[in-house]
Amino acid sequence: SAPLSDSDPEIFAAITAEDHRQEDKLELIASENIVSRAVREAQGSSLTNKYAEGYPGRRYYGGCEHVDVVENLAIERACKLFGAEYANVQPHSGANANMAVFFALMKPGDKFLAMDLAQGGHLTHGSPVNFSGFIYEPIPYGLGADEQLDYDQIRDLAKKHKPKVILGGATVYPRIIDWKIFREIADEVGAAFWVDMAHIAGLVAGGEHPSPLPHAHVVTTTTHKTLRGPRGGLILAGKDTENPLGITNAKGETRLLSDLLNMAVFPGMQGGPLMHVIAGKAVCFKEAMDPSFATYQAQIRKNAKALAEAVVSHGFRLVSGGTDNHLMLVDLRAKKLNGKRAQEVLDLAGITANKNAIPNDPNPPFKTSGLRLGTPAVTTRGMTETEMPLIAELINRALEQRHDDTLIAGIREEVKALCNRFPAWG
Ligand code: PLP
Repeated sequence: SAPLSDSDPEIFAAITAEDHRQEDKLELIASENIVSRAVREAQGSSLTNKYAEGYPGRRYYGGCEHVDVVENLAIERACKLFGAEYANVQPHSGANANMAVFFALMKPGDKFLAMDLAQGGHLTHGSPVNFSGFIYEPIPYGLGADEQLDYDQIRDLAKKHKPKVILGGATVYPRIIDWKIFREIADEVGAAFWVDMAHIAGLVAGGEHPSPLPHAHVVTTTTHKTLRGPRGGLILAGKDTENPLGITNAKGETRLLSDLLNMAVFPGMQGGPLMHVIAGKAVCFKEAMDPSFATYQAQIRKNAKALAEAVVSHGFRLVSGGTDNHLMLVDLRAKKLNGKRAQEVLDLAGITANKNAIPNDPNPPFKTSGLRLGTPAVTTRGMTETEMPLIAELINRALEQRHDDTLIAGIREEVKALCNRFPAWG
C-alpha cells in the first residue's frame, strides 16, 4: 500500500515536524528520552497486528507462538535486569501498572500512604481527580524543612492511620530514596510496601540509585523515562511473591502475589497486550544489561550535577539545594518569574522543560513557581559535563531577555547549533 507521505500527508507532515522539533530543540523534560533505533524497529513491527489476550502458553487466541517468545524474553530480561522473581510486561502505561497494583493489593476505601502531589508525588498516588484518590483513601506524606523526605513523619502517619499499603517513589524528587527505612515502617504497621520507581528505573538498572527490589513487596515503573524504552508500564516483585501478608482477591481467597498481580492486569483491567510495545520493552531490557548502559546512567547523573551547579551559579535556588539523580527543581522566585512564563519563554528559545510546583508553592498549579529540568535526553544525544554550563547559560539568558523577541530568536539559533553537534538519532 501507499507510504504514509502519500496516504496521509497531514499526519506525515506532523510527524516530520515532530522529528525536527526533537532534532533541533534541547529536551530537558525529566521524564522523556530518545529510544534507540532497535526499540523503534520493534515497536513499528508486525506485532502491532496480533491479539494475544492471556499470558505466554495460556492465550485466548491462536497464532501466538512468536509473540510468546517475545513476551517470555521480555519477562526473563526484566527479572534478570532488576533482580526480580516476577515481572508483568503487559501494562500499557505507568498509570495502568499502578492501577493493577491498587486492584491487587487493596479493596475500595482502603487507606494508603503516598507522597503528596504538591510535594512531588504522581497523579496516580492519590490525586482527588484520579481513580487512586476517589476509589481509595490516600494519606499524603511530604517533605521536611530541608525539602527532603521526612521518614519520621512517614512513620508517625503510618502508625496513626495503619494503611494497607505504603507507596514510595515520586515524579519530582531530586534525592536518593531510602527504601530500607520505608520497608521497616511498613513492617512495623503490617502494610505492604510498594515502590513506583518510574523516574529512576534507568538509574536503578545502571546501579546509580539503590534498587527497591530487595525491600518492596511490589515495584512498578514506566519503561520510557531514564530506562529509555518504549512508552509503557512494568510490574516487578522480588522475595515477597509468595504473599506473606496474606492479601486476598475479590472472592476473599489468598493467592500468590504474582497471581493477584497477573489477574489484576488481565483480565482485571486490560484486554489484549500491545505485543509490539512488549517487543520494544524486551529490546530495552537487553540494552540496559549492556555494560555501556551503566556508563550512560552515570553520565545522566554527572550531567544533572553539572547542570545544577551551573544553574545555581546564575543565581537560581534549587529545591533541597541540589540533585542526586537525573532531575532538579528550580525555584524561580528570586528571578521574579513563574513556571508558566519560564516554560513559554524557553519553548520560544528552543529549550523544552516543564513548569512544576515547588514545595509550599504560593502560585496555583497552572502557574507554579518552579521549573523541572532533567538530563536523560541530552545525555542520550551524547552531551556531557562540557555542555551543561552552556545549557544553563542559555536558559538564564533566555529568561533574562524574555522581553526581547530578537534576542530570543538568536538564542534559538544557538540552541539549534548545539543540537546539531549531537544528532538525536545517533
Ligand atoms: N508514576 C510516576 C512516578 C510517574 O512519574 C509517571 C509519569 O510521569 C507515572 C507513574 C505514569 O506513567 P504514564 O504516563 O506512562 O501513565
